[in-house]
Amino acid sequence: MRAVTLRVGVFGAGGRMGRTVCQAVAADPALELVAAVDPHHAGLDLRQVAGVDLPWQVAMGADVFVDAKVDVAVDFTHVSAGRQNLRWLADHGIHAVTGTTGFTDADYESFAHAFSRSNCVIAPNFAIGAVLMMRFAELAAPYFETAEIIELHHDEKLDAPSGTAMLTAERMAAASAEWAPDPTTTEVLEGARGGAGPGDIRVHSLRLRGMVAHQEVVLGTTGQTLSIRHDSYDRASFMPGVLIAVKAVAGCPGVTVGLDALLDL
Ligand code: NAP
Repeated sequence: MRAVTLRVGVFGAGGRMGRTVCQAVAADPALELVAAVDPHHAGLDLRQVAGVDLPWQVAMGADVFVDAKVDVAVDFTHVSAGRQNLRWLADHGIHAVTGTTGFTDADYESFAHAFSRSNCVIAPNFAIGAVLMMRFAELAAPYFETAEIIELHHDEKLDAPSGTAMLTAERMAAASAEWAPDPTTTEVLEGARGGAGPGDIRVHSLRLRGMVAHQEVVLGTTGQTLSIRHDSYDRASFMPGVLIAVKAVAGCPGVTVGLDALLDL
C-alpha cells in the first residue's frame, strides 16, 4: 500500500528560512510541496525564488492553500505577518508549524483560543542542539545563583532578544527562584547590563554579519562557572526539527510550544 503524503504550503517562501524549508519539504518523500506564499515574490517561478524544481509560481495570498488542499502550512516570516497567517490558518482549519519569533504572551493566548479546528506547533528554535541547550540550562539552574544569556544572530534579524533566549530564561526561572539580585547601581551606558528577562535573568543580544543563530548560557556560583553554548552555522540545522513538526502536528491537539514536546527528552 502506498503511504499517504502530506500536502505542505510555505509562507515566506522567498525568505532565508522559507527557501530552505521549501527545499527540505521538496526533498522529503513523505511530503509534497504544493503551494508557496510570499507577497514580495508573488508571480515569480518557485525555481527562481527557492531553487526548487517545481513548475508553479509563488502566490500573493494564503487563499492558494485552500485551492491546493494544504494539510500543513509552515510559517517563517515576521511577527506581524506570522500573527495574521496563524489566525488565517486557524480560521481555515489548516495545521500550522511556525518558527517565526517575537510573539508575546498575549499572542500565545490568542492562538490557544483560535486553534480549535486544526493544530499549531510553535518553536522559537527547531535545531536539536538548541533544544538540548535549553534543557541543560534548565537542569543546571537550581545549582547556580547567577546566570546570564548571550544570544548572537546575523545582522538582519528584526526582533530582539531572540525567542530562544526568552524561552531559555523562562525555563530557567521556572526551574529555580533562587537568583541573586543584580549588584549594578550605576549604568554608565544605558543597556550595558542587557535586558532583564524572566527571573531577572539578564539577556544580551548581539547582531553580527557572518553569524546565523548562536546562544551561550553562562551560570555562576562560588568558585565556578558553567557555559552551555549552541551554534547554528547553517539554516539546514533547523530542517530536521521542522520536518518532525510538520509530520507530528496533526496528532498534537491545540497549540504546542517548543520542539522538545515532540521529542522524547
Ligand atoms: P526573512 O529572510 O526576512 O524572511 C521572511 C520572509 O517572509 C520574507 O521573504 C518576507 O518578505 C516574507 N513575508 C513577509 N510578510 C509575509 C506574509 N504576510 N506572508 C508570506 N510571506 C511574508 O527572515 P528569516 O531569516 O527567514 O526569518 C524568518 C523568521 O524565522 C524570523 O522571525 C526569525 O527569527 C525566525 N527564525 C526561526 C528559527 C527557528 O528555528 N524557529 C530559525 C531561524 C529563523 P519581505 O522580506 O519582502 O517582507
